[in-house]
Amino acid sequence: MTQSTTRSEALFDRARAVTPGGVNSPVRAFGGVGGVPRFIERAEGPWLTDVDGNRYVDLICSWGPMILGHAHPDVLAAVTDAARRGFSFGTPSEGEVALAAEVVDRVEPLEQVRLVSSGTEATMSALRLARGVTGRSVIVKFAGCYHGHVDALLAQAGSGVATFALPDSAGVPASAAGETVVLPYNDLAAVEELFAARGQEIAAVITEASPGNMGIVPPGPGFTEGLRRVTAAHGALLISDEVMTGFRSSRSGWYGHETGPDGAHPGGYEGGAPDLFTFGKVMGGGFPAAAFGGRADLMARLAPEGPVYQAGTLSGNPVATAAGLATLRACTPQLYPRLEATATRIADAASAALSAEGVAHRVQWAGSMFSVFFREGQVRSFDDAQQQDTAAYGRFFQAMLEGGVHLPPSAFEAWFVSGAHDEEALETILDALPAAAKAASA
Ligand SMILES: *Cc1c(COP(=O)(O)O)cnc(C)c1O
Repeated sequence: MTQSTTRSEALFDRARAVTPGGVNSPVRAFGGVGGVPRFIERAEGPWLTDVDGNRYVDLICSWGPMILGHAHPDVLAAVTDAARRGFSFGTPSEGEVALAAEVVDRVEPLEQVRLVSSGTEATMSALRLARGVTGRSVIVKFAGCYHGHVDALLAQAGSGVATFALPDSAGVPASAAGETVVLPYNDLAAVEELFAARGQEIAAVITEASPGNMGIVPPGPGFTEGLRRVTAAHGALLISDEVMTGFRSSRSGWYGHETGPDGAHPGGYEGGAPDLFTFGKVMGGGFPAAAFGGRADLMARLAPEGPVYQAGTLSGNPVATAAGLATLRACTPQLYPRLEATATRIADAASAALSAEGVAHRVQWAGSMFSVFFREGQVRSFDDAQQQDTAAYGRFFQAMLEGGVHLPPSAFEAWFVSGAHDEEALETILDALPAAAKAASA
C-alpha cells in the first residue's frame, strides 16, 4: 500500500512560498532523508495523523518533550484550566514558582532556576552568566554537541587543541566564534592541554550531559569528572546542558541517572556537581518553557539582584508553566522503567531486523534514551558518528514511514518513546522493521 501524500505535498508547496525551505526548523524539511515532510494535523498518545489521514507511531515525540505521549489528559486539563484564567500576565504568578520548585526539587545541586522560553535561550543566558561571573570570555564546547542556535555555540568545526573554530553558520561573526574553542568529545587530554595553555581566559566549558544530538554518545568513564576537576582547578564554570536529557533519561535527568542508589555518582560527578544546568524540552510539556539554574550564589549575579541582565516578555508564561508542571508531575518514578522497557523492545527488534539483513549498526543508550548508528563499533565522538551510512538510514526511514512509523528524519538523532507507546504501537513498529531493514541493505 502506498500512502497518499497529496495534501502534505500541496501544503509543502504553499509553505515554501511563505517560509524559507517550507519549515520553521531545518531538520523538518526531510533534507537528510528525502521525500515529502508529513504535515501533521493531530496527535494523540503515541500516534500522529497527517493531513492525508495517514497514521504513524511517533518516534520523534517533538524531539523529546512529549514524554507522556500526545494530548495527555492531565496536561490537557492543566493547560485548559490555565488558559481559561488568561494567557499571559507579565507579572509574577504562582505557576512559575511551582514549576521552578519542581525542577529544583528534582536535581539535587540546583538551588535556583530562572525560567525562559527555549533551550537556546537557556544556554545563551547560562553563557552570559558564566562570562559575567568569571570576567572571562572564552567558551569551550565539544564537536557534535548541540546547544541551540546561539552564535557562540554554532561553532562545531575544528577539533584541534587550542585552534579557534570557524563558524559553522553564515551570519555568525568571527568575533563570536573566535571566543569559542571546539574540542573532540570524550577527549580529556585535549581539555587538559587547552587549560594548561589558556586556562585563565576560559569562562566555562559547556557540554551536553550525555550528548544526544549526534546520536547518543554517553560520556566515557571519568570524562565528566575530569571536566569538573579541570574547570574547578582553573576557576572556570562547568555548564551541563540537560535540555534533552533533563527529566527524560531519568526522573532527575542525566544527573539523576548517574546518581547511584547510595548517592554515589559512578558515572562522572564524584568530583562535584556542575555549576550551572540548562533544561528545556520535557519541562515545557510541549509548550515553550525552559530554564537555567545552579547554585544560589551564582544565580544571584542575575538582574535584578546582580549585574548580568536577562529577561523575557513570555518567561514563566502561565499556560506553558501549567503544561510543564503537569508533565513533570506525571513523570513519576514508575514512568522511567516503562520507558526503558519500551525502548529496549524497539531497540532489540530494530537490531535483530538489521542483523538479519546484514546491515551494519550499533545501538547506544543514555538511560531510557537510545539511538541507532548505521555503522559498527563504539561511537565516542562526532568523528565516529559521522562515519555512518546515512544513505542506508534514509532508505530505512522511508520504509518505516511507509510502514506507519515516523522516525526522526536524520541519522544523528535519538529515537524518542513515550509512556503512551502501547502494544498496538509496538506491534506496528515491529511489523514495519523487516521491510525497512531490507530497504536499508539494498
Ligand atoms: C534541543 C536542544 C537545545 C535547544 O533547545 P531549543 O528549545 O530548540 O532552543 C539545546 N541543547 C540541547 C542539548 C538540546 O537537545
